[in-house]
Amino acid sequence: MPIKPGYLDFHVHVGERIGGYTLRDDFADLQRLCHNPDDPINPPLMGMGVFVTQPDTGSLAQHLEEMQSHAARNFSSPVYWHLTPTRDDVSQVVPLLGKGIDLKFYTTYRAQGLYRSYTELERWMQNLSDQKTRFLIHCEDDDAVQHYSEKHPFRHPFDHTLRRPERCELIAVEKVLDLALKHQHPVHIVHVSSPNSALLIQEAKKQFSGISCETTPHYLLLNEDDLKAKDAHRLICTPPFRSERSRGMLVELLQDGVFDILASDHCAFTLPDKDRYKNQPEKVPCGIAGIGTLFSSVYEALVRSGKITLQQLVELTQTRVMQLMELEA
Ligand SMILES: [Zn+2]
Repeated sequence: MPIKPGYLDFHVHVGERIGGYTLRDDFADLQRLCHNPDDPINPPLMGMGVFVTQPDTGSLAQHLEEMQSHAARNFSSPVYWHLTPTRDDVSQVVPLLGKGIDLKFYTTYRAQGLYRSYTELERWMQNLSDQKTRFLIHCEDDDAVQHYSEKHPFRHPFDHTLRRPERCELIAVEKVLDLALKHQHPVHIVHVSSPNSALLIQEAKKQFSGISCETTPHYLLLNEDDLKAKDAHRLICTPPFRSERSRGMLVELLQDGVFDILASDHCAFTLPDKDRYKNQPEKVPCGIAGIGTLFSSVYEALVRSGKITLQQLVELTQTRVMQLMELEA
C-alpha cells in the first residue's frame, strides 16, 4: 500500500496560557513542521487537535473564535478543536459544537479550575445525549491525587511519581468507562500511562465502539528513572513517567493494538519558565514538548527495532487520527 508520508497529532497545547504561563509555541511555530521534506523518518505534520480552555475572564465562544482566526492566519493544515468550558454551561456550549469540535474534561486540577466530578461528567453526558459529542478525558482521580500528594511532599522531580501514582489514573479510568458504557457516550481517554488502565479500556471497547484512547511516546520510551537525572524538572509532565516494568508493558499493549492512536500531549514552555523554580518542583509548569518528534521518536525506537511495523506507526499517527478528526483520507 502506498503510504503518503505525514502524521497528525491529536493532542497539542499551543497558543494559550496555562497556569499563568504563555505556552512556548504559537501556530506559526508549529507551521514549520508542516514543511518537513518528504522524509520517511521525519515526515510533514498534516494536522492537529488543539485545546481551547475557557480563560479566567470571557466566554469560551470568544476564545475559540480568537484561536480559530490565529490558526487560519498562521497554520495551513487542518485543526480539530477540543473545548474545555470551565464556567459556561451546556446551553452556552451547544451552539459551538459541530464538525471538527469536541469537548475535553479533567477529573483533576482543582486548583486550576479544571476539575469535574464524575457526577458533573454524567450530567454533561445526559445533557448532550442527542449530540453525543465526544469527550476527551484526562483521567486521574483527584481525591487519590490529594491523598498521595499529602503523603509525599514535592521536593524532587521524582516525587511526582509518588504523588500521582498509576492508581490515580486507574480509579478515574474505571469510573469514566462506567459512565461511557452506561450512557453509550463517546469517550476518548487521553495520555494513558498505566498498563492496567489500558487493559480496562481494552475490555470496555469490546462493549462499546465509541471508546478510544491514546498513549504518548514519553510513556513508551522514558521511565521514572529519567526523573532522577540532572535537570529532571524539565521533564515534569502529568501523568508522570512510570516504572520500567509498566513502560515495557505499555509497549506490549501497543503491539497488541490496544491504543487507537499515538499523540504527543505537546505542552512546551520556554526554558526560562521551566527553569525558574527548578528547586521547587511544585511550581514548575507542567508539560513537555513532543509534536516535532511524535513520529520520528517512535520510528527510531520501536520501528527500527522491529517492535512495531511502519504500517502500524502510520495507522497510529495518520490513518486513525484522520478518522477521529473526521478527515477524508
Ligand atoms: Zn494535554
